Amino acid sequence: MARYLANTNTKEIHDLEANISSDKRALCELDKIKPEHKKDVYTEGEVDLLIKNEGYDGCKHCLPEYHTD
Ligand SMILES: [Zn+2]
Repeated sequence: MARYLANTNTKEIHDLEANISSDKRALCELDKIKPEHKKDVYTEGEVDLLIKNEGYDGCKHCLPEYHTD
């Protein structure tokens, strides 16, 4: 299983192993991402590239260190 999940529609990346409360996790709304918008991301290096080269952003709830506005 991939560590990260990117939403190709909103261009947000979620950290599936983030150590956050279930309340906070609910804000990610992972269950609302359509299957066709889900992209598995396996490494931090891939996350970096998606953010630098493809306009992705870290989820502010579970990947705040990569979140920009
Ligand atoms: Zn998230």
